[in-house]
Amino acid sequence: MKKLLAALCACSLIFSAAYPVFAEGKNVVVSFYPLYIFAMNVIGDIPDISLSRLSSNQTGCLHDYQLVTGDMVSLSNADLFLINGAGMEGFLETAAEAFPELRTVSCSEGIDLIKNDEGAETEYNAHVWLDPCNAIIMVENIRNALTSLAPDYREQLEKNADNYIQRLHDLDEKLKTGLAPLENRDIVTFHEAFPYFARAYGLNVIAVISLEPDEGISPRMLAELVEKVRTAGSPPLFTEPQYQSDAALAVSAETGAPVRELDPAVTGPMTCDAYENIMLKNLEVLVESLGTK
Ligand SMILES: [Zn+2]
Repeated sequence: MKKLLAALCACSLIFSAAYPVFAEGKNVVVSFYPLYIFAMNVIGDIPDISLSRLSSNQTGCLHDYQLVTGDMVSLSNADLFLINGAGMEGFLETAAEAFPELRTVSCSEGIDLIKNDEGAETEYNAHVWLDPCNAIIMVENIRNALTSLAPDYREQLEKNADNYIQRLHDLDEKLKTGLAPLENRDIVTFHEAFPYFARAYGLNVIAVISLEPDEGISPRMLAELVEKVRTAGSPPLFTEPQYQSDAALAVSAETGAPVRELDPAVTGPMTCDAYENIMLKNLEVLVESLGTK
Protein backbone atom coordinates (compact mmCIF):
# COMPACT_ATOMS: atom_id res chain seq x y z
CA MET A 1 0.00 0.00 0.00
CA LYS A 2 2.79 2.38 0.94
CA LYS A 3 4.50 1.63 -2.33
CA LEU A 4 1.29 2.30 -4.23
CA LEU A 5 0.79 5.60 -2.41
CA ALA A 6 4.37 6.60 -3.11
CA ALA A 7 3.89 5.78 -6.78
CA LEU A 8 0.65 7.79 -6.91
CA CYS A 9 2.33 10.74 -5.22
CA ALA A 10 5.22 10.58 -7.65
CA CYS A 11 2.73 10.53 -10.54
CA SER A 12 0.78 13.47 -9.25
CA LEU A 13 4.01 15.39 -8.73
CA ILE A 14 5.00 14.73 -12.31
CA PHE A 15 1.56 15.80 -13.52
CA SER A 16 1.46 18.91 -11.41
CA ALA A 17 4.88 19.93 -12.68
CA ALA A 18 3.86 19.52 -16.30
CA TYR A 19 0.22 20.62 -16.02
CA PRO A 20 -0.43 23.07 -13.21
CA VAL A 21 -3.43 22.06 -11.15
CA PHE A 22 -5.16 24.84 -9.25
CA ALA A 23 -6.94 23.81 -6.11
CA GLU A 24 -8.75 27.13 -5.83
CA GLY A 25 -10.27 29.38 -8.43
CA LYS A 26 -11.56 28.30 -11.81
CA ASN A 27 -9.70 26.49 -14.54
CA VAL A 28 -10.56 27.41 -18.10
CA VAL A 29 -9.15 25.34 -20.95
CA VAL A 30 -9.37 26.49 -24.57
CA SER A 31 -8.86 24.25 -27.56
CA PHE A 32 -6.44 26.42 -29.54
CA TYR A 33 -4.49 29.63 -29.97
CA PRO A 34 -6.97 32.31 -31.12
CA LEU A 35 -9.37 31.40 -28.31
CA TYR A 36 -6.50 31.68 -25.86
CA ILE A 37 -5.77 35.24 -26.98
CA PHE A 38 -9.47 36.20 -26.88
CA ALA A 39 -10.03 34.68 -23.42
CA MET A 40 -6.80 36.20 -22.13
CA ASN A 41 -8.15 39.67 -22.98
CA VAL A 42 -11.47 39.00 -21.23
CA ILE A 43 -9.88 37.54 -18.08
CA GLY A 44 -7.27 40.30 -17.79
CA ASP A 45 -5.61 40.23 -14.39
CA ILE A 46 -8.35 38.38 -12.49
CA PRO A 47 -6.26 36.05 -10.31
CA ASP A 48 -8.90 33.38 -9.67
CA ILE A 49 -9.38 32.33 -13.28
CA SER A 50 -6.54 30.36 -14.80
CA LEU A 51 -6.30 29.79 -18.52
CA SER A 52 -4.59 27.04 -20.49
CA ARG A 53 -4.86 25.45 -23.90
CA LEU A 54 -4.61 21.89 -25.08
CA SER A 55 -1.04 20.97 -24.34
CA SER A 56 0.40 19.59 -27.51
CA ASN A 57 -1.43 21.84 -29.90
CA GLN A 58 1.25 24.36 -30.64
CA THR A 59 1.30 23.96 -34.37
CA GLY A 60 -1.89 25.33 -35.83
CA CYS A 61 -5.46 24.41 -36.71
CA LEU A 62 -7.09 21.43 -35.05
CA HIS A 63 -7.96 19.50 -38.22
CA ASP A 64 -7.31 15.82 -37.40
CA TYR A 65 -6.04 16.72 -33.92
CA GLN A 66 -6.19 13.89 -31.39
CA LEU A 67 -6.29 14.46 -27.64
CA VAL A 68 -3.11 13.38 -25.84
CA THR A 69 -2.61 12.40 -22.20
CA GLY A 70 -1.72 15.94 -21.19
CA ASP A 71 -5.00 17.21 -22.65
CA MET A 72 -6.95 14.61 -20.68
CA VAL A 73 -5.24 15.79 -17.49
CA SER A 74 -6.03 19.44 -18.31
CA LEU A 75 -9.65 18.65 -19.12
CA SER A 76 -10.09 16.56 -15.97
CA ASN A 77 -9.18 19.69 -13.98
CA ALA A 78 -11.21 22.11 -16.10
CA ASP A 79 -14.33 23.96 -14.97
CA LEU A 80 -14.99 25.24 -18.47
CA PHE A 81 -13.84 24.14 -21.92
CA LEU A 82 -14.01 26.80 -24.63
CA ILE A 83 -14.03 25.43 -28.14
CA ASN A 84 -14.19 27.02 -31.59
CA GLY A 85 -17.06 24.80 -32.75
CA ALA A 86 -18.29 24.77 -36.38
CA GLY A 87 -16.57 21.39 -36.79
CA MET A 88 -13.04 22.47 -35.85
CA GLU A 89 -12.73 20.07 -32.90
CA GLY A 90 -13.12 16.59 -34.38
CA PHE A 91 -12.16 15.10 -30.99
CA LEU A 92 -15.19 16.56 -29.25
CA GLU A 93 -17.00 13.25 -28.90
CA THR A 94 -13.96 11.71 -27.20
CA ALA A 95 -13.79 14.62 -24.76
CA ALA A 96 -17.53 14.50 -24.06
CA GLU A 97 -17.37 10.74 -23.42
CA ALA A 98 -14.43 11.09 -21.05
CA PHE A 99 -15.81 14.16 -19.25
CA PRO A 100 -19.60 14.15 -19.57
CA GLU A 101 -19.94 16.74 -16.80
CA LEU A 102 -17.51 19.24 -18.31
CA ARG A 103 -19.16 22.49 -19.33
CA THR A 104 -18.22 23.01 -22.98
CA VAL A 105 -19.05 26.24 -24.80
CA SER A 106 -18.82 26.75 -28.54
CA CYS A 107 -17.45 30.24 -29.17
CA SER A 108 -18.75 30.34 -32.75
CA GLU A 109 -22.37 30.16 -31.58
CA GLY A 110 -24.37 32.86 -33.37
CA ILE A 111 -21.92 33.31 -36.26
CA ASP A 112 -23.24 33.13 -39.83
CA LEU A 113 -21.31 30.03 -40.95
CA ILE A 114 -20.07 29.40 -44.48
CA LYS A 115 -20.98 25.99 -45.87
CA ASN A 116 -18.23 23.79 -47.24
CA ASP A 117 -18.53 22.23 -50.67
CA GLU A 118 -20.26 18.90 -50.96
CA GLY A 119 -17.95 16.03 -49.95
CA ALA A 120 -15.85 18.06 -47.50
CA GLU A 121 -14.96 16.51 -44.13
CA THR A 122 -17.11 18.98 -42.21
CA GLU A 123 -20.34 20.74 -43.13
CA TYR A 124 -19.08 24.25 -42.38
CA ASN A 125 -15.82 26.09 -42.73
CA ALA A 126 -14.52 26.49 -39.19
CA HIS A 127 -12.07 29.42 -39.65
CA VAL A 128 -14.55 31.97 -38.34
CA TRP A 129 -12.09 33.96 -36.21
CA LEU A 130 -10.38 35.49 -39.24
CA ASP A 131 -13.21 38.01 -39.59
CA PRO A 132 -12.77 40.42 -36.64
CA CYS A 133 -16.57 40.92 -36.50
CA ASN A 134 -16.85 37.18 -35.84
CA ALA A 135 -14.06 37.52 -33.29
CA ILE A 136 -16.31 40.03 -31.50
CA ILE A 137 -19.12 37.45 -31.32
CA MET A 138 -16.61 34.91 -29.99
CA VAL A 139 -15.43 37.35 -27.32
CA GLU A 140 -19.06 37.95 -26.32
CA ASN A 141 -19.60 34.20 -26.02
CA ILE A 142 -16.42 33.87 -23.95
CA ARG A 143 -17.51 36.77 -21.72
CA ASN A 144 -20.94 35.17 -21.17
CA ALA A 145 -19.41 31.78 -20.32
CA LEU A 146 -16.94 33.37 -17.91
CA THR A 147 -19.49 35.55 -16.13
CA SER A 148 -21.64 32.52 -15.48
CA LEU A 149 -18.56 30.59 -14.28
CA ALA A 150 -17.29 33.40 -12.01
CA PRO A 151 -20.24 35.76 -11.31
CA ASP A 152 -18.25 37.59 -8.62
CA TYR A 153 -16.10 39.03 -11.41
CA ARG A 154 -18.94 39.98 -13.73
CA GLU A 155 -18.17 43.69 -13.71
CA GLN A 156 -14.49 43.25 -14.47
CA LEU A 157 -15.10 40.62 -17.14
CA GLU A 158 -17.63 42.87 -18.87
CA LYS A 159 -15.31 45.84 -18.73
CA ASN A 160 -12.38 43.83 -20.12
CA ALA A 161 -14.58 42.40 -22.88
CA ASP A 162 -15.89 45.87 -23.80
CA ASN A 163 -12.36 47.22 -24.10
CA TYR A 164 -11.23 44.35 -26.30
CA ILE A 165 -14.37 44.51 -28.45
CA GLN A 166 -13.66 48.21 -29.03
CA ARG A 167 -10.14 47.30 -30.18
CA LEU A 168 -11.55 44.64 -32.50
CA HIS A 169 -13.93 47.24 -33.98
CA ASP A 170 -10.94 49.50 -34.58
CA LEU A 171 -9.11 46.60 -36.24
CA ASP A 172 -12.11 45.95 -38.50
CA GLU A 173 -12.18 49.64 -39.48
CA LYS A 174 -8.47 49.57 -40.33
CA LEU A 175 -8.93 46.47 -42.48
CA LYS A 176 -11.97 47.97 -44.25
CA THR A 177 -10.21 51.25 -44.94
CA GLY A 178 -6.98 49.58 -46.00
CA LEU A 179 -8.51 46.96 -48.29
CA ALA A 180 -11.34 48.99 -49.86
CA PRO A 181 -9.23 50.77 -52.49
CA LEU A 182 -7.49 47.63 -53.82
CA GLU A 183 -8.14 47.05 -57.49
CA ASN A 184 -7.04 43.43 -57.55
CA ARG A 185 -9.12 41.27 -55.26
CA ASP A 186 -8.31 37.70 -56.38
CA ILE A 187 -6.20 35.47 -54.18
CA VAL A 188 -5.16 31.81 -54.15
CA THR A 189 -4.61 30.15 -50.77
CA PHE A 190 -3.22 26.80 -49.64
CA HIS A 191 -5.50 26.10 -46.68
CA GLU A 192 -9.23 26.82 -46.47
CA ALA A 193 -8.66 29.43 -43.80
CA PHE A 194 -9.68 32.68 -45.46
CA PRO A 195 -13.31 32.56 -46.72
CA TYR A 196 -14.64 34.53 -43.71
CA PHE A 197 -11.94 37.15 -44.12
CA ALA A 198 -12.61 37.30 -47.87
CA ARG A 199 -16.37 37.65 -47.31
CA ALA A 200 -15.83 40.46 -44.81
CA TYR A 201 -13.51 42.51 -47.01
CA GLY A 202 -14.64 41.66 -50.53
CA LEU A 203 -11.72 39.49 -51.66
CA ASN A 204 -12.19 36.54 -54.05
CA VAL A 205 -10.53 33.29 -53.12
CA ILE A 206 -10.33 31.90 -56.66
CA ALA A 207 -8.69 28.61 -55.64
CA VAL A 208 -7.74 26.74 -52.49
CA ILE A 209 -5.09 24.08 -52.79
CA SER A 210 -5.57 21.78 -49.82
CA LEU A 211 -2.76 19.32 -49.35
CA GLU A 212 -1.86 17.09 -46.46
CA PRO A 213 1.42 18.13 -44.81
CA ASP A 214 3.46 15.43 -46.60
CA GLU A 215 1.48 15.38 -49.81
CA GLY A 216 3.07 16.79 -52.93
CA ILE A 217 1.07 18.33 -55.73
CA SER A 218 0.22 15.84 -58.48
CA PRO A 219 1.10 16.72 -62.09
CA ARG A 220 -2.60 16.81 -62.95
CA MET A 221 -3.45 19.13 -60.06
CA LEU A 222 -0.53 21.32 -60.96
CA ALA A 223 -1.68 21.60 -64.57
CA GLU A 224 -5.24 22.45 -63.56
CA LEU A 225 -4.09 25.02 -61.08
CA VAL A 226 -1.62 26.62 -63.46
CA GLU A 227 -4.44 27.00 -65.96
CA LYS A 228 -6.74 28.55 -63.36
CA VAL A 229 -4.10 30.96 -62.07
CA ARG A 230 -3.09 32.02 -65.59
CA THR A 231 -6.72 32.63 -66.56
CA ALA A 232 -7.14 34.81 -63.50
CA GLY A 233 -4.10 36.90 -64.48
CA SER A 234 -1.64 35.26 -62.08
CA PRO A 235 -2.88 36.68 -58.76
CA PRO A 236 -0.70 36.23 -55.67
CA LEU A 237 -0.44 32.78 -54.08
CA PHE A 238 -0.76 32.99 -50.33
CA THR A 239 0.97 30.36 -48.24
CA GLU A 240 0.96 30.32 -44.45
CA PRO A 241 3.73 30.24 -41.89
CA GLN A 242 2.31 26.97 -40.50
CA TYR A 243 1.99 25.15 -43.84
CA GLN A 244 4.41 24.08 -46.52
CA SER A 245 4.75 26.10 -49.70
CA ASP A 246 6.18 23.60 -52.20
CA ALA A 247 2.95 23.54 -54.22
CA ALA A 248 2.85 27.32 -54.27
CA LEU A 249 6.43 27.48 -55.51
CA ALA A 250 5.62 24.96 -58.26
CA VAL A 251 2.61 27.00 -59.45
CA SER A 252 4.60 30.21 -59.18
CA ALA A 253 7.42 28.77 -61.28
CA GLU A 254 4.91 27.96 -64.06
CA THR A 255 2.83 31.13 -63.94
CA GLY A 256 5.03 33.86 -62.55
CA ALA A 257 2.41 34.49 -59.83
CA PRO A 258 4.14 35.88 -56.74
CA VAL A 259 4.20 33.84 -53.51
CA ARG A 260 3.29 35.72 -50.32
CA GLU A 261 2.38 34.74 -46.78
CA LEU A 262 -0.90 35.26 -44.92
CA ASP A 263 -1.12 34.23 -41.28
CA PRO A 264 -4.30 32.42 -40.17
CA ALA A 265 -3.58 33.37 -36.53
CA VAL A 266 -3.37 29.81 -35.24
CA THR A 267 0.07 30.23 -33.70
CA GLY A 268 1.92 33.26 -32.41
CA PRO A 269 3.03 35.16 -29.33
CA MET A 270 1.00 34.71 -26.15
CA THR A 271 0.27 38.41 -25.81
CA CYS A 272 -3.02 40.29 -25.57
CA ASP A 273 -2.48 42.22 -28.82
CA ALA A 274 -1.23 39.21 -30.83
CA TYR A 275 -4.40 38.68 -32.90
CA GLU A 276 -4.57 42.36 -33.84
CA ASN A 277 -0.88 42.42 -34.79
CA ILE A 278 -1.21 39.31 -36.96
CA MET A 279 -4.23 40.76 -38.77
CA LEU A 280 -2.50 44.12 -39.32
CA LYS A 281 0.51 42.30 -40.75
CA ASN A 282 -1.90 40.47 -43.11
CA LEU A 283 -3.34 43.85 -44.12
CA GLU A 284 0.15 45.11 -44.93
CA VAL A 285 0.92 42.02 -47.01
CA LEU A 286 -2.39 42.27 -48.91
CA VAL A 287 -1.99 45.96 -49.68
CA GLU A 288 1.54 45.36 -50.87
CA SER A 289 0.55 42.32 -52.99
CA LEU A 290 -2.78 43.50 -54.42
CA GLY A 291 -2.31 47.26 -54.48
CA THR A 292 -0.64 47.51 -57.86
CA LYS A 293 -1.14 45.76 -61.16
ZN1 LIG B 1 -7.47 25.28 -40.73
